[in-house]
Amino acid sequence: MLILDGNTERSMKEQAEGGYPREVCGLLLGRFEDRRQVRQVSEAHAAGNLNQDRSGDRYDMDPTDYLRIENAGRARGLEVVGVYHSHPDHPSRPSETDRQRAEEIWQAAESWSYLILEVASGRLVSLRSWVLREGAFREEEVRILPISH
Ligand SMILES: [Zn+2]
Repeated sequence: MLILDGNTERSMKEQAEGGYPREVCGLLLGRFEDRRQVRQVSEAHAAGNLNQDRSGDRYDMDPTDYLRIENAGRARGLEVVGVYHSHPDHPSRPSETDRQRAEEIWQAAESWSYLILEVASGRLVSLRSWVLREGAFREEEVRILPISH
């Protein structure tokens, strides 16, 4: 299960809509709970998409951004608990490319959430999250906490 702070959800929404029609990507920082079955997210940090040729339907997260965000989180007691990216004019389901990438690159990250934001005509229409289990994505529950003031 993925638990999202309401402010974090709003921040990702703004990033995904603002980046349209390009894919945006980033890291989810927070804490693992319940033997890593629950990911409690408190921050979503955008990273650069290095894919220039197909930025409408591919992303290559800038590794420099990755390290910077991870280190900044660690300094505040937060871990990387997942990644997110947008799907401009595509459903919020992982593509075959997403699956292959996750399997190849993120073997050490099998308890990560893989969150996808579907953006249609510049508006967020769905947000779904997935976990990789034995080479296949399974959808997980997303709980969004009310925005605190
Ligand atoms: Zn994707």
